Amino acid sequence: MKKLLTFLCTAVVLTALCSCNQAADSKMTETEIMMDTVVTITVWDSDEEVMNGAFDICRKYEKIFSRTIENSDVSKINNSNGEIITVSPETAELISMSLDISEMSDGAFDISILPLVNLWDVNNTSVPPNPQQITEAKAQVGFKSILLQGNNVKLPPGHSIDLGSVAKGYITDKVRDYLLSTGVKKAIINLGGNVTLIGNNNKKEYSVGIQKPFALHGESAAILKLSNKTAVTSGVYERYFEYENKIYHHIIDPKTGYPTKNDIASVTIIADSSALADSLSTACLVLGKEKGMELANLKGVEAIFIDLDGNIFISSGLDIDYNGTVPKISLKF
Ligand code: ADP
Ligand code: MG
Repeated sequence: MKKLLTFLCTAVVLTALCSCNQAADSKMTETEIMMDTVVTITVWDSDEEVMNGAFDICRKYEKIFSRTIENSDVSKINNSNGEIITVSPETAELISMSLDISEMSDGAFDISILPLVNLWDVNNTSVPPNPQQITEAKAQVGFKSILLQGNNVKLPPGHSIDLGSVAKGYITDKVRDYLLSTGVKKAIINLGGNVTLIGNNNKKEYSVGIQKPFALHGESAAILKLSNKTAVTSGVYERYFEYENKIYHHIIDPKTGYPTKNDIASVTIIADSSALADSLSTACLVLGKEKGMELANLKGVEAIFIDLDGNIFISSGLDIDYNGTVPKISLKF
């Protein structure tokens, strides 16, 4: 099961903590396991047909972005052996967006990372690969060798792509657009921790918990107070194995071929676009606090870095309130 659907990760790193007035609201929540993750959608004042439509969108895009579903666009690219492949406009758009973030992050974000992801295989192994294997896999990684022209994609033989760091965000945006088009005014979309909020919570902000790194699932390091935005977290504590007292996690630095080694445990990005937030949360985790914060500023999004000691660092558009048991973070404007 895991192997079949491993294009997206399971870890739910952001939790929408809705304290809504349920009796007065006509609220509907549905959860499905898809894309190797937990998808939960909550809509108010809508109906089953709209809810089904939202899950249909997730299924539709899973079929084209998954690297484990035969005949997906990504599988076709990965099996192309150097031939040109024509993909759907959405796949082309997602690849194009990913290449922009690769350029802007100086290669920290790289969807051609798959040979290294497969080599490390952190879900199924418990011993790091040897340096020779890492050098060999690294030679097959490099976003500059992804050629995209219109809807045509060409990759050198041996190279392969993985949209796992950005597809959940992209699909979340598509679900949000669909819900808005049906007239939904209030909803929470949670694709494995990529949380998008439509509207507000009875004229107040929704509460979204940021997972405390390495703590019990559901324990919050901070509570985000947000409306009408998306929040996406990437964390080194989500998927990892331990070997000789060191942690080897699932986000790889393309420059070294090893899981990123800096003092950052998680990065949360707050933005309007979940695809952008998803790619930037991964990129910023690789870049670390200083360079990551610069990239977030450049892209006009807000960022929250939590380091391995639990210290929280916020971008300039955010406020943090340390009164209370868990810090509360909100947008300044
Ligand atoms: P998650 O999907 O676990 O919420 P991310 O969005 O950060 O977290 O995506 C991590 C996934 O992206 C990894 O499991 C791997 O498949 C892929 N990946 C790992 N390193 C990179 C990288 N430097 N750039 C792009 N994708 C990466
Ligand atoms: Mg990501």
